[in-house]
Amino acid sequence: MKIDLRSDTVTKPTKEMLETMMNAKVGDDVFEEDPTIIALENKVAQMFGKEAGLFCPSGTMTNQVAIKVHTQPGDEVIIEKNSHIYYYEGGGIAFNSGASVKLVDGDRGRITAEDVLARINPDDVHFPVSKVVSVENTSNRGGGCCYDVEELKRISQICKENKLTLHLDGARIFNALVKKGHTPGEMGGLFDSISVCLSKGLGAPVGSVLLGTNEMIRRGRRVRKVFGGGMRQGGYMAAAGIYALDNHINRLEEDHQKAQVLSETLSGLSYVKEVLPVETNIIFFKMRDGLTGSELVDYLAKNEILALSLDRETVRLVTHLDFDDDMLGKTMEILKTFQG
Ligand SMILES: *Cc1c(COP(=O)(O)O)cnc(C)c1O
Repeated sequence: MKIDLRSDTVTKPTKEMLETMMNAKVGDDVFEEDPTIIALENKVAQMFGKEAGLFCPSGTMTNQVAIKVHTQPGDEVIIEKNSHIYYYEGGGIAFNSGASVKLVDGDRGRITAEDVLARINPDDVHFPVSKVVSVENTSNRGGGCCYDVEELKRISQICKENKLTLHLDGARIFNALVKKGHTPGEMGGLFDSISVCLSKGLGAPVGSVLLGTNEMIRRGRRVRKVFGGGMRQGGYMAAAGIYALDNHINRLEEDHQKAQVLSETLSGLSYVKEVLPVETNIIFFKMRDGLTGSELVDYLAKNEILALSLDRETVRLVTHLDFDDDMLGKTMEILKTFQG
């Protein structure tokens, strides 16, 4: 029994999900003839109260399409320094859009309305044109922490007042919604575009959906093609996404509970210096001085448990659909046997 806690992307489709995929009606989506992709796009758009959706192979692509649609070369994106779009997408803002960034040193990946206001450039030829604000909820490198919806409303208001486009990297938006008790519909009005991943906690094998207005998604469809993301009979993948949305949202709470249990266990271990507050399904903890994260990660791997060491002292664990109660028990047992 291998236990993989490196990421919530490691899940395999369930039997029921695979059956749904096998029975999907498909067509050529570049001709906009795949009924299942169209159904998925409409479903997610409706959930969030947006006009239209665009199914893409990855969350990186939905984010990058959004930035491309929202900017002209030289425009500036206001974004937190640990954001996936800036930190983990291979310099895509520059590569794909030729856009500039203004970084915010936020609180565990989160920014505030004041952070945004302070970074809007004056209308002066010396400065890039401030164009887009991007927020991430939950924050991946922030350890899965969530925004307070009131802060999102303030950020949205500042963006509207200053004619800035607001993008949400919602790779794990359902973790945030389940945690905070909000509905997707409450998010729609706050953002110009939203990226939703189906392949993280929701457990689909592939895919993300970009949401926005009809006009924005029409332009996004063109960019997706240029990026090489126009798919043909992708409905098999979209069917998995529909299944995940119908069946795997409420159960995210179980992932959060398991993460809490792990966090409590870790807090009691002598080799752990600090466990960062756990809000959803991501656990970050720091090793006691003199120990490195990779020593623990190697030990865990010898015991068939996979974890990630993020930097010298920090280890990350992520709970998910394929991490059951037995695995939780075994993980806690093995964690207790590490001799720091
Ligand atoms: C995983 C992730 C993405 C997209 O990742 P892909 O692997 O390209 O699907 C985007 N944003 C955040 C915050 C993520 O965690």
